[in-house]
Amino acid sequence: MSADAGPALSDLPSLKVALQSLGVVADKRFGQHFLFDLNVCRKIVRNAGVGVGDTVVEVGPGPGGLTRALAEGGADIIAIERDARFLPLLEEIAARADGRLRIVHGDALEIDEQALLADRGAHLVSNLPYNVGTPLLMKWLLGPWRPLSLTLMFQKEVADRLVALPGRSAYGRLSVIAQILCDIRTVMDLPARAFTPPPKVDSAVIRALPLAARPDEAELSALQSLTAAAFGQRRKMLRASLRAFGGASLCESIGIDPSARAETLPPEAFLALTRAWRKTQGD
Ligand code: SAM
Repeated sequence: MSADAGPALSDLPSLKVALQSLGVVADKRFGQHFLFDLNVCRKIVRNAGVGVGDTVVEVGPGPGGLTRALAEGGADIIAIERDARFLPLLEEIAARADGRLRIVHGDALEIDEQALLADRGAHLVSNLPYNVGTPLLMKWLLGPWRPLSLTLMFQKEVADRLVALPGRSAYGRLSVIAQILCDIRTVMDLPARAFTPPPKVDSAVIRALPLAARPDEAELSALQSLTAAAFGQRRKMLRASLRAFGGASLCESIGIDPSARAETLPPEAFLALTRAWRKTQGD
């Protein structure tokens, strides 16, 4: 290091040592399972495809493994952490990130990303707390803020549901809504032992790119109601599960077999059913 250079990211102690020196133990209430292996964190950042010139929102930086990898890659980072115990560790990363790391202490479920970003486009890259992973994803898929891309770690079972195709047991309402709104795929699988403390289940990273052609808000709201009915009784035929929406006649009006079951229908068929139903309502 030259005499006038500030501290470098590479000067930081290992994540394990940094956490131990703070005396912080994982709190299950906040879904805390940490990634100590920086190479795994760097791989997530590579999969996210973010770097110099990109703004990234990271939810739940915790001790900051992924944050360090994002900072190394050159991105501008806004890190939202609910647990104040991690703030000193995050400040140490910020001191080495040339002003590219802003730390926000707060609950990501409550935060208004648009206000935070002030019209700047941003990518999401996060190892999400599992207990609020799905509500956070719904907020980002359906809410007013549109991330440029989403690279997110979920428990494997949730990741499988997001990418599942019709006919698979994991295929359901979450698959339909996610796939109507995004091009989505799994980019990494991680065993439970990759985390400290290890969770009970394995994990996977998904990457989602929001599609430009997006149903409007009224259609999305109706799609949520219709898929809730269809998958609420997934073993029933559509004529029965969609009775409140017009059942057999709704299906037949757009050439869908009323004796089919929800799990066999592709996402676009649910959108077509939703649009046909809205027409019957005069919308
Ligand atoms: N990114 C770190 C890593 O990979 O090692 C930690 C990931 S840990 C699975 C989830 C993190 O999210 C924890 O630091 C936890 O405190 C934080 N968290 C939990 N609920 C949150 C919320 N509602 N808003 C913001 N952060 C939250």
